[in-house]
Amino acid sequence: EERAREILSAVKGRDDTRLGVEAMDLLDAYGIETPQGDIVDSPEEALEVAEDVDGDVVMKIVSPDILHKSDIGGVKVGIPHEEVFDAYEDLITRARNYQPDANIIGVQVQEMVDLDSGVETIVGMNRDPQFGPLLMFGLGGIFVEVLEDTTFRVAPVAESEAREMTEEIDSAPLLRGARGRDPVDVDGVTETVQRLSQLVTDFPAILELDINPLVATPDGVKAVDVRLTVD
Ligand code: ADP
Ligand code: MG
Repeated sequence: EERAREILSAVKGRDDTRLGVEAMDLLDAYGIETPQGDIVDSPEEALEVAEDVDGDVVMKIVSPDILHKSDIGGVKVGIPHEEVFDAYEDLITRARNYQPDANIIGVQVQEMVDLDSGVETIVGMNRDPQFGPLLMFGLGGIFVEVLEDTTFRVAPVAESEAREMTEEIDSAPLLRGARGRDPVDVDGVTETVQRLSQLVTDFPAILELDINPLVATPDGVKAVDVRLTVD
């Protein structure tokens, strides 16, 4: 909680608080696992980070002016180390073309998570004027808009409530191993919902928070993309 407080007070008063730069650290401070990696502002540094990662990496533009990164081609998956340099330059160019005066923080270099064995879920929080902090859980990626298969609880939630959320969406069987697939780490998803619940309960200054996707694989869960609005 101490670390989270530091991170949040650093963000406070800045005009680009709608962003995930510090958000990864914040999740980390609350024990929510994030992919290995870092945010860098040069192609040389990007390569250094990539070299610490086993295998190909994912690279993403980081800018408070670009909220939906893949819409502008700002997410590149499966980049081998030898292409990291060019990919960095290309991401910056794409961002500049999209918005010449965009405030570009840099590029996030991440380990690849295994989407083939995993399910993209979304865990979020919105403060409702009537109900207070509303936690949301559903399938992430393209499914979240198409299926509108989501469920809500008011934070803070007990473990049983967090588990119910993973059980009551229509696509719950997908988490538990449909069509011969291995079940994903539902305990990890449940725990993530609870940890997020604790975080937004401890910090009313967090107005909105979305982990989209939280990738759940048979081996665990990872918060791959997070967006945050702070008062
Ligand atoms: P945005 O939502 O802003 O477009 P994301 O970071 O969510 O950006 O990336 C878009 C999609 O790219 C994700 O939903 C996921 O399918 C894929 N992706 C992102 N990061 C990774 C990663 N580390 N490993 C594997 N796939 C990823
Ligand atoms: Mg996303």
